[in-house]
Amino acid sequence: MSEMSEMTPQKKEQNRQWLLKERDDVQEKIYNLQHSLTETAENDPDPVDVASKVEGRNNTMAESNRQGNRLKQINSALSLFADDEYGLCITCLTDIPEKRMEFDPATTQCVDCKTLSESRGRQFARG
Ligand SMILES: [Zn+2]
Repeated sequence: MSEMSEMTPQKKEQNRQWLLKERDDVQEKIYNLQHSLTETAENDPDPVDVASKVEGRNNTMAESNRQGNRLKQINSALSLFADDEYGLCITCLTDIPEKRMEFDPATTQCVDCKTLSESRGRQFARG
């Protein structure tokens, strides 16, 4: 038994198939969200209706952004297969624990690097 928790080729392939399916799902979600955005963009004479539609539109845009980020993450995870680097952290190149990969097969960073890049992101966001 190996003490390393490296993924087997079978497990990697399973994750790859999962990611391809997940990518289709996310692309469909984005398509539907954008479609509903163009619908709510139409003028409506009822101000109450407009207010609720504006709120709905903001929610839809937030969800659309969220799904867009998810799509980017899935694509970057899929691109790692080409170099056989799937399962490695894109920042420090160490093995990502299998448990973490199972929790989200689109994971491309270890916990440390992820935490670091998120705290950097927050600093930039604050301006
Ligand atoms: Zn790392």
